[in-house]
Amino acid sequence: MPAHSKTPNQQDFRFHSGIEALPDAALILSPDLMILSGNKKAQRLLGVRFPDDVGKHIEQLLIDPEFSEYLNQDNFETPCLITSPINDELQLEISVMAFGGERVILMSRAISKYHRMKKMRREFVANVSHELKTPLTVVRGYVEMIQETEHGLDPHWQKVFATIEGQVSRMERLVEQLLSLSKVENNRDDDDMKHVDMPVLVEDLVEDAKWLNQDKKHDIRTNITQDVGVFGIETELKSACANLISNAIAYTPASGVIDVSWQRHDDKLVFSVRDNGDGIKAEQLNRLTERFYRVDKSRSRDTGGSGLGLAIVKHVLLHHKAELVIRSEWGVGSEFAIYFDEDSGC
Ligand code: ADP
Repeated sequence: MPAHSKTPNQQDFRFHSGIEALPDAALILSPDLMILSGNKKAQRLLGVRFPDDVGKHIEQLLIDPEFSEYLNQDNFETPCLITSPINDELQLEISVMAFGGERVILMSRAISKYHRMKKMRREFVANVSHELKTPLTVVRGYVEMIQETEHGLDPHWQKVFATIEGQVSRMERLVEQLLSLSKVENNRDDDDMKHVDMPVLVEDLVEDAKWLNQDKKHDIRTNITQDVGVFGIETELKSACANLISNAIAYTPASGVIDVSWQRHDDKLVFSVRDNGDGIKAEQLNRLTERFYRVDKSRSRDTGGSGLGLAIVKHVLLHHKAELVIRSEWGVGSEFAIYFDEDSGC
């Protein structure tokens, strides 16, 4: 490393006046991540002191395993989130980028407000969904009471009440899914992690699916490796796998084939659901896990879909350091696979 790159040079002093105008905290680092200079916001957010900290390695200042992991990876596209070293209540978003070959810039901004808003949104959705449960149960109760009335309803009213009952069921499913999503989003507790018997979990889900979906006469096949479980949250894993199976059933026409498997592949453990159903166009694939995203709204409405299933799957996988891989061809079929790291296995 040339000596001049480790100490502030003429260019750094010029650059320093530029970064003072930036809205974010900014530090100029040498290629081996020694602090050279920075703006006043960096002093306030990161607690850097000038000139005392000049020449120190950035990891002496930002002591955080997430940050060290971030520095050790090759891809800096996604910023890293850490707690401010001088204020526990301040969440910081950090991005690192190379600048002109001999310098590295570290930018940081406080995102506590954004987090607070996200928390408020999560709590609002959870509360509203919870409050909707009771009125829906009451409406369902009365509708069923009227439908069972001894005097019998004339066909016009039978149709009306069947429609009300259908819509109540849709809302109940939506509320259930919203509640599951907020439960998964709010769950930060690793205490629920335990050995999950995946072969039994998958077999039970497939049995339920066969039982509940006899009318479409799907050929549901399984290929399950025994004795391989994962360390995880059972209710969440059940919900993620059930969502993938029920999607395959919903988006595969009658008599289609659905393959459900739990296998070891190289250094991964893989749960996969493959179908020969509708398939998905390539341009839509990366939007599927957005909440409320549905490829074809009218088709999804027919299937009773809410667009929340894959958002739930995505959040569950975040807790399990697992990855969802979607392969699909329009008109041919789809495969939704969850890849767990081998060290999650037990
Ligand atoms: P939904 O409740 O609408 O099924 P999801 O989040 O589970 O919501 O799925 C989002 C969208 O992805 C669905 O509306 C559907 O268009 C598409 N999709 C999901 N699984 C499949 C599949 N196995 N085959 C084809 N399309 C699928």
